[in-house]
Amino acid sequence: MSYRRTRKPIFKACKKCGGLVPLDAKSCPYCGSTSFTEDWEGMVIIIDPEKSLVAKMIDRADKPGIYAIKIGGKVALK
Ligand SMILES: [Zn+2]
Repeated sequence: MSYRRTRKPIFKACKKCGGLVPLDAKSCPYCGSTSFTEDWEGMVIIIDPEKSLVAKMIDRADKPGIYAIKIGGKVALK
């Protein structure tokens, strides 16, 4: 029996834009990147990037979607 420190994620985070996509996604629906990591924490849901304060904090969150707050231990928010 081995125990992992991390919980089992249902999403993986795009390394480029921080967008969260299903584990079986081939490419990022937000920016088209194919580089992902499962090492992420926290999520924000952007519905309307024009009006969302959080979207303004995340530089790259210019499309509606789910974004990770932390990627690889670093805060992805601006
Ligand atoms: Zn992306």
